[in-house]
Amino acid sequence: MPKTLNRDQFATVLLRWHQQDGRAGLPWQNLRDPYAIWVSEIMLQQTQVSTVLERYPKLMQRFPTVQALAAAPLDEVLAEWSGLGYYSRARNLHACAKQIVQDYGGQFPRQLAQLEKLAGIGRSTAGAIAAFAFNLRTPILDANVKRILARLFGVAGAVQSKAVSEQLWQLAQTLLPHEAKFMPRYTQALMDFGATWCTARQPICLSQKNSQEKKCPFESSCIAKQHNQVLELPKKLVKKKSPAFNCVMLIIQAQEQILLQRRPTEGIWGGLWSLPESSWQKITLDSVVQSPKIKKNISTKKLLQMIFSSGHVAEKVLDQLIKLSTKPVAGLVLKHVFTHRVLWIQSWRIQLSKPIAIAGTDYAWFRLNELDALGLPQAIRLIFQDWNLIRDADKANE
Ligand code: SF4
Repeated sequence: MPKTLNRDQFATVLLRWHQQDGRAGLPWQNLRDPYAIWVSEIMLQQTQVSTVLERYPKLMQRFPTVQALAAAPLDEVLAEWSGLGYYSRARNLHACAKQIVQDYGGQFPRQLAQLEKLAGIGRSTAGAIAAFAFNLRTPILDANVKRILARLFGVAGAVQSKAVSEQLWQLAQTLLPHEAKFMPRYTQALMDFGATWCTARQPICLSQKNSQEKKCPFESSCIAKQHNQVLELPKKLVKKKSPAFNCVMLIIQAQEQILLQRRPTEGIWGGLWSLPESSWQKITLDSVVQSPKIKKNISTKKLLQMIFSSGHVAEKVLDQLIKLSTKPVAGLVLKHVFTHRVLWIQSWRIQLSKPIAIAGTDYAWFRLNELDALGLPQAIRLIFQDWNLIRDADKANE
């Protein structure tokens, strides 16, 4: 029979573990400034630590205070976020900075309920900011913590379900240290334990490193370990297969300039500059290659009609584009995976002898040497790299 975990002891054991085996030297550790904590928390969501290590200092240097971030144009923030994906985080970062400056005089609110109302700050992020910056006894419940608790207490339901999530929140609250002064280190310890020891695929208790010196301090009371269910917990909702789509994107180049279109603020790549594109067509994965949009030859007229078919470009302009364009050249077919869908993009390029004015604020011509600094989706960056229009980021750093 496993020993039952003494909830009062959990924090003490975890803090002792952290003293010995916690991570050290991460630039966002031991911070008390809510702004710096908040930026790191948002960046660490859905981004690997190695990437954040490189990008976090740059972002903090560019926007050292919440006032600097609020005052920056959204385009600059998106450009700084470029390549990190999940761009709603950058838009929310900017919106939240404005809220803090306008509604709270540039100071982060100290109440959990007020923190949770800010753009892009969920319950767990609010808990982390409050615990780290203000020593409040507020729990966090990110994916790592859900995993630790589901395993330790043998919570068998899918952690994404509302009922199980609420159960875990309550559990997380009961495990907090009694003394508020321990909250920053306790919160960091939970994060470190989930990121390095109780990991999703190679938890220490199943690893060969699980020796006397590196033994999980909860092993004798961990329900998942005692029941051989470590890799089965936490349970996830069964995911449906992501639907696949394809589309055509067009590079229209006029000498040293390229036509870009700003995407609507809501939705995929919201607010970022992208290439003019055709409508997305749902496909089965088997039909990707045969799809009419993924092929080697197409007339200039057909291609331009496909891109500008929705009627937001005047007939006259379309005729002018068709007349002045060279024959299209096909580029790579790129597969881009979003969280809930897969997109196959066929890129084409045409050349014009000079830029043509296209009415509407969502289109603009950019010089080639301006592309690097723009907020571009990663897929568009890859297309530009494939056409040698911008340098590969790795090569640029050489
Ligand atoms: S015994 Fe294994 S599963 Fe349980 S808390 Fe420790 S590392 Fe995680």
